[in-house]
Amino acid sequence: MLEQDVVFLDLETTGASASHDRITEIGMVEVARGRQAREWSSLVNPETRIPPAIEALTGITNEMVREAPTFESLSRELLERLEGKLIVAHNARFDYGFLRNEFRRVGRRYQSRVLCTVRLSRRLYPEHHRHNLDTLIERHGLACSGRHRALGDARVLWDFVQKVYGERDRAEVDRAVAELLRAQAVPPNLAAEVVDDLPESPGVYVFYGESDLPLYVGKSVNLRSRVLSHFTGDARLGKDMRLSQQVRRLEWIETVGELGALIQEAQLVKKLTPVHNRRLLRSADLCAYRFRPGDDTRPVLVSVREMDLGELEHVFGVFRSKRDAVNTLRGIAEGHGLCPRRLGLESGNGPCFSHQLKKCRGVCAGKESEERHDLRLQAALTALRIRSWPFRGRIGVRETDPWTGRSEVHLLDRWCYLGTVRSDNELFDAAEVGNRPAFDLDTYKILTRWLERHRGKAELIDLA
Ligand SMILES: [Zn+2]
Repeated sequence: MLEQDVVFLDLETTGASASHDRITEIGMVEVARGRQAREWSSLVNPETRIPPAIEALTGITNEMVREAPTFESLSRELLERLEGKLIVAHNARFDYGFLRNEFRRVGRRYQSRVLCTVRLSRRLYPEHHRHNLDTLIERHGLACSGRHRALGDARVLWDFVQKVYGERDRAEVDRAVAELLRAQAVPPNLAAEVVDDLPESPGVYVFYGESDLPLYVGKSVNLRSRVLSHFTGDARLGKDMRLSQQVRRLEWIETVGELGALIQEAQLVKKLTPVHNRRLLRSADLCAYRFRPGDDTRPVLVSVREMDLGELEHVFGVFRSKRDAVNTLRGIAEGHGLCPRRLGLESGNGPCFSHQLKKCRGVCAGKESEERHDLRLQAALTALRIRSWPFRGRIGVRETDPWTGRSEVHLLDRWCYLGTVRSDNELFDAAEVGNRPAFDLDTYKILTRWLERHRGKAELIDLA
């Protein structure tokens, strides 16, 4: 590793999001062939406010950066110092992501090989669980002047690597470094740069193949690690192997939270029908039984798309086909001694065939009242009931990114997804829209599960 030009780097920033936050300080220790060449550091005017919590953490205040150079004015010099070098940083994705975005803002392309000291530590000292910088300082007795300042932390990293080479066999360290650098492998036809840009945030991704054919839609709370997991290590089998060979293009949508990712995934799979995804069910093909005691004399088969969302408590199902529905109802009739004739499963008059076999309790033969039969039917159907919407009407579910404070509100009504807004103004505009949603089984499943898991914890907004 130390046979090449290495830059030990650390950045201070206004927050944790590489796409929204900015750099406030850069510190680096440049090491040429194992010999420390020079140190360099500069405050950077982030051209935005530093939040008080970050000021307190780093000690870098708005006051201090006001007169500092902007990233743009430093960019030419930085590119000279960084290009072609091996960049070593702690949680390297963070620093590398910030650098790339800052360079992009000023219209410069930047790409480097990157080594993460968290991963290096984890690889060489797997018996330890913690690998944050404070832990490394304590564990290896590293000198640190100026923790949470860029140059101070960059010096710690250089110190750490020297300690590692002292404690471990040189060949062993070099092997670990080589493996970590190789693990950043990307599929042959995908631009490495695209993969570099992948954020470590929740969201949905789409792989496209030849002729822009959608191959696969996936979601994750960490886009970067999920996408890369398709292409590295043990995942190079079966479906992932084929994906890796076929993929030509990658797209993603960042979301603030998990619910947004789940909803987006279901919508995209429906829209794109990618070849490697399980097909989701289209509402047009689905049906359910409606049974309103008093109004309906028997369960009525309705198309899910057309069913009245105002009376979900009287809807039972959902079924993939009419045949599925009929078979299910037949099974219920048998299991509960109900009459197939009264249920409309058998035509004719008088006692039904099932009654002759002593399975039907005989509403058809005057041995049981219709009211009693229908009450038993209703009880038997309960197991198939679609959950009634537990809110007064339309609601919003707010998801907030704990790091950036950004939030999204998903608008929902009677298990249907109406859209996502990112500001309160949009929220109230959207609440006015009187669109009539269609029931969607996948959304129903996503929402019932998610709300169950976040019972009492989800931030719900009543829009009724
Ligand atoms: Zn009968």
